[in-house]
Amino acid sequence: MKMLNQVKITFAGRSVNEGFARAAVAAFLVQLDPTVPQLADLKTAVSEAVTNCIVHAYPSCIGTITLTAALYEGGVVRITVTDRGVGIPDVQQAMQPLYTTGDPEERAGLGFAVMQNFMDKVRVSSTPGRGTRVTMTKKLDTRPRPST
Ligand code: ATP
Ligand code: MG
Repeated sequence: MKMLNQVKITFAGRSVNEGFARAAVAAFLVQLDPTVPQLADLKTAVSEAVTNCIVHAYPSCIGTITLTAALYEGGVVRITVTDRGVGIPDVQQAMQPLYTTGDPEERAGLGFAVMQNFMDKVRVSSTPGRGTRVTMTKKLDTRPRPST
């Protein structure tokens, strides 16, 4: 698959930057002219991944989050969200719907389920004590450009 364009952004793991990450991905994808629902799906998946870094990866400090977005031929978008936080000891368990290590009053344990629902493919690689990378892929409908 041929990569057509890519961007890489590093930002502080502060909750205010969740909105920034959503907007940055949306701005990058403008070149694809995505449909509103597909863009909404992508932004929601990005929010969940970034929130997880802020809440879980760095529970007691403000760490660094790196987001990459890459565009491939055929409207395929790949997004990675990487942290250097605490890591996940059992990824398979963490990805089970309703599983959470967070405060059950605040967390539903549905973030990974949302990502899987809204993207075509979600892959998580993590090393305890070193950090986590979430890679999400989605093929967007390409709309024919009006001829001029
Ligand atoms: P919700 O997303 O519904 O608010 P949640 O964040 O607990 O709740 P998920 O997003 O599905 O649910 O994540 C499940 C669990 O995986 C988390 O409770 C946490 O233990 C672990 N986890 C997820 N992302 C990370 C991360 N980046 N670093 C460390 N642990 C993580
Ligand atoms: Mg979550």
